[in-house]
Amino acid sequence: MYDDLTIENFMSGLVKRNPNEPEFHQAVKEVAESVIPFINANPKYKDAHILERMTEPDKVISFRVVWEDDEGNVRINRGYRVQFNNSIGPYKGGLRFSPTVNLSVLKFLGFEQTFKNSLTTLPIGAGKGGSDFNPKGKSDSEIMRFCQSFMTQLYQHIGANTDVPAGDIGVGAREISYMFGQYKRLTHQFESVLTGKALEFGGSLIRTEATGYGNAYFMEAMLKQHGGSISGKKCLVSGSGNVAIFCAEKIMRLGGTVLTLSDSGGGIYFENGLTQDLLEIIKDRKINKRQRLSEIAVELGAQFLEGQKPWGVAADLAFPCATQNELDEADAKSLAANNCIAVSEGANMPCTPEAVHLFAENNILYAPGKASNAGGVAVSALEMSQNSMRLAWSSEELENKLLGIMNDIHGQCVKHGERDGKVDYVQGANIAGFIKVADAMLAYGIA
Ligand code: NDP
Repeated sequence: MYDDLTIENFMSGLVKRNPNEPEFHQAVKEVAESVIPFINANPKYKDAHILERMTEPDKVISFRVVWEDDEGNVRINRGYRVQFNNSIGPYKGGLRFSPTVNLSVLKFLGFEQTFKNSLTTLPIGAGKGGSDFNPKGKSDSEIMRFCQSFMTQLYQHIGANTDVPAGDIGVGAREISYMFGQYKRLTHQFESVLTGKALEFGGSLIRTEATGYGNAYFMEAMLKQHGGSISGKKCLVSGSGNVAIFCAEKIMRLGGTVLTLSDSGGGIYFENGLTQDLLEIIKDRKINKRQRLSEIAVELGAQFLEGQKPWGVAADLAFPCATQNELDEADAKSLAANNCIAVSEGANMPCTPEAVHLFAENNILYAPGKASNAGGVAVSALEMSQNSMRLAWSSEELENKLLGIMNDIHGQCVKHGERDGKVDYVQGANIAGFIKVADAMLAYGIA
């Protein structure tokens, strides 16, 4: 009925409708490049304008968060929840507290979440939220007051069957606990409205580990598909937060050697490889004591590379697990020059489009985060299941389920991305994620 979509026309309309949102444009373009040819070949999606509908969030909520700091000053931040798409389940996705949070970043994350959550095979829609609040350097009391004020605004928009947020950058177990407590107080309901809760009040085993473990499992599946494995490989990991730490742990358990971690101050290099004992120190210092890597490098017997990223170190595998656009073209060139064979994203969109093109040119296997870091949200969905059933599965059961889900996601990428014996994981993840959501939207009619 309609002319074929072109990527150029589609993107120019999107940019016009969403000015000054570069991260959102970048995330949509990456998907559009894969799915527009598919949509043109399947007119039911084109005629129903599914991609145009899928790139418009269901609802964007923005609110004022007022709180008092320890000196008695009144502080004001902006809170958001982007409810992107609930075609296949309640909105689900993390809350990020960082001064870098704005609508563009949250729309990119919410859009990515649509595909990621679809790939998990579980019934979860997509959302993302957070605030431009900077948790760094704040006292526990300040964090508590901010979280309570944030939830006082957010609670009316979320619920166990409506929207179930989780953690992300700057939002860990402490923040989730303060927010859950406030939700309970405001609504008089003990329900599965947040995931990433502590075990004492409905949290799931393995949730903390799930994103990082899942990323390592995805890399293992990708290497197995191409006749290899992590065992014996030298690995670069960036970040030293939740995702990076548990990705490093699983790499070591699968027989790989982790050479680096990083934080926003720089990289840290373990000449002889990270060990579990050193990782336990890092967990304590980074997660519990919120210290910088520069402060603990000497104790770890490692070299701190001030202001540097890990990508210049020679290694076989790379796992970017810190933040968006942290691995650019120059970094990709360094990886290629050092004969890196595969990259698996733990963070969301850590590799720039130029870096991703360079991986393809150099035959470096590349797993996009929407596939390789989906383990976290998958176990969040399993937390919701356990809460609904009012029971708790064991670590072994959950880790088996996580492994099964990551292998399933890998299988979907192969099914939709294999061509001439090679797998294009971007293509595979985008098409597989798209079909499920698009078919649900078609079934609902014009809405
Ligand atoms: P954390 O807040 O626990 O850790 C983030 C890490 O990234 C910290 O080490 C931080 O360093 C580092 N970092 C942040 N900004 C920069 C920067 N500009 N340059 C270098 N390093 C930086 O977050 P998570 O580990 O939870 O999340 C990391 C990534 O994974 C994000 O992209 C997130 O969206 C994604 N993700 C997380 C999931 C989860 O389950 N937590 C699920 C799926 C994706 P510093 O301490 O100095 O700030």
